[in-house]
Amino acid sequence: MSWITVCGGGNGAHALIGTLLLQNETTHIRLYLPLEEERSRFAEAISSHSKFEVQLAGEVHSVASNRIYVTADPKQAVRSSTIIMVVPAFAHEAILSQLAPYLTKESTIAALPARSGLEYQARDILDKAGQNGCVLVGFQTLPCACRIKEFGHSVIIHGTKKRVGAACLPRKEIEEKAEVFSTLLGIDVIPYQSMLELSLANTGQLIHPGIMYSVFRNRRTEVFPSEDKVPLFYASVDDKAAKVLSRMSDEVLTIKDTVEQKRPGFKMPSVVHLSQWLLEAYGDDIKGTANLARMFQTNQGYQTLKVPVTKVNDGYRVDVATRYLTEDVPFGLLVTKGIALVVGVETPMIDEVITNTSAWIGKEYLIYGELIGRDVMTTRAPQRYTIDSLEGLIR
Ligand code: NAD
Repeated sequence: MSWITVCGGGNGAHALIGTLLLQNETTHIRLYLPLEEERSRFAEAISSHSKFEVQLAGEVHSVASNRIYVTADPKQAVRSSTIIMVVPAFAHEAILSQLAPYLTKESTIAALPARSGLEYQARDILDKAGQNGCVLVGFQTLPCACRIKEFGHSVIIHGTKKRVGAACLPRKEIEEKAEVFSTLLGIDVIPYQSMLELSLANTGQLIHPGIMYSVFRNRRTEVFPSEDKVPLFYASVDDKAAKVLSRMSDEVLTIKDTVEQKRPGFKMPSVVHLSQWLLEAYGDDIKGTANLARMFQTNQGYQTLKVPVTKVNDGYRVDVATRYLTEDVPFGLLVTKGIALVVGVETPMIDEVITNTSAWIGKEYLIYGELIGRDVMTTRAPQRYTIDSLEGLIR
């Protein structure tokens, strides 16, 4: 019998628990839920249902619920050598800080997904806890779209990617860890060469804030009278919005080229233009490949996904407090901006998106292109961790 610890009790955690238990017959889960209300709700759910159910491609699969052990005790959580955080990036700090004092050289702690700048935050927390032996793994994305059906009992997995990129700290561990996680997750884990590559290859940081800004900036106050009038999110990208997204992506590529020129031999092959990434990630699901706007409009995977909204008296309004901004800006674009500043690359389009969208969510990050706003210390920009050289970024 082997144990894996999962940290998190949301949609992604439900899907991961189901996947791990279905893929690996002898595996048991330690589910670390430090938030008391969530811990007790989950424990109650598994004691009242003997099965945990996963709905996948229309079929329901079930596993015994007694293979899940719920705990709020960090000392219990670290008893598994593999620990996977499946939480939004803003929760990494709390969980890493709680577990850090008890991790050992045998521990591998992974973030699924990592978003950007995880390595700076994790190194900072682990160093302060006197902890320098464990391995950190960051994944490029959650490999599925999923929703809880019944809390603690059932989950719907809408679609699973066949491959996902991952990077490691220390870097030399990545080949072995990619193999281990490929088996655990039942998908191909593609080894990235560095955490910097992982941070810059984060496409959610471009797509989510980029579309919120370019498509919805003039529709933020509009009221959609009913749910069916709420516009699609990705498929609403028109030629003008595609230009914004393409310019953001070009700026990331300039950062990549600059780093590679300054450090001959250091390569980040997974950092590609958004259009190339879309074609590689979605393949035949994209019916029109003439230009970036058509790729968004005709991607079959994007045809039902709407802009996040909040209910108001007379209908629905765009929800600016969405993770597309509260996660993808401070744990995505801000990290990229910080890297750009370190290597001396100008990013006018990314700056425009950050400056405008951060104002919508009441945050101040950039002032005249400098990372000196009052909320920078709540992001994962390298400057928060006093990293100001290419050597520091790569190390
Ligand atoms: P969720 O909102 O369903 O779950 C959030 C969970 O995070 C909470 O249930 C709690 O367990 C944990 N959490 C939050 N704050 C915490 C804290 N301070 N301390 C400890 N735990 C805390 O989110 P999700 O859908 O599971 O998403 C997880 C990650 O996966 C996010 O980065 C999300 O953007 C990404 N993602 C999700 C999907 C999806 O389909 N659900 C798809 C792609 C990417």
